[in-house]
This record gives sequence, structure tokens and C-alpha cells, in this order.
Amino acid sequence: MNQTLCNGCLHLREVVSGKGSRFLLCQFSMQDKRFPKYPPQPVFRCAAFESAEQDNAEQKSD
Ligand code: SF4
Repeated sequence: MNQTLCNGCLHLREVVSGKGSRFLLCQFSMQDKRFPKYPPQPVFRCAAFESAEQDNAEQKSD
């Protein structure tokens, strides 16, 4: 699932079930109900995508 846009997204939270299955939870879905909590993968385009790397860079410069 590496090719999905969600992997580099600020809003992603990984959820691992008791059986070891991995789910990608979109936290943006909590503020905007148009986005599914568990978006069908892979995601190639998303209007709410925000780069997690950019956010890390901003935090380092604080
Ligand atoms: S906002 Fe879009 S790209 Fe980001 S985790 Fe949610 S569905 Fe994936």
C-alpha cells in the first residue's frame, strides 16, 4: 500500500487490529464528513491531502 497518497499525509493515522491487520484511518474525516474514516485504498488524489513532511519541517523551524 506504499503508493497511496495517505502514507505521506498529515491526516493519516495507522490502526493495527489485534490480529495484525493494518488499516489507514483518515483523521480529516472527523472534521469533514464527506471524507470516509477508512478511505478505499490506494488513494491517488485527495482534496484534503496535506504533506506530513512539510509539517515536520515547520515544527523544526519553531
Ligand atoms: S486527507 Fe486524504 S490523503 Fe490524507 S489521509 Fe485522508 S484520505 Fe488520505
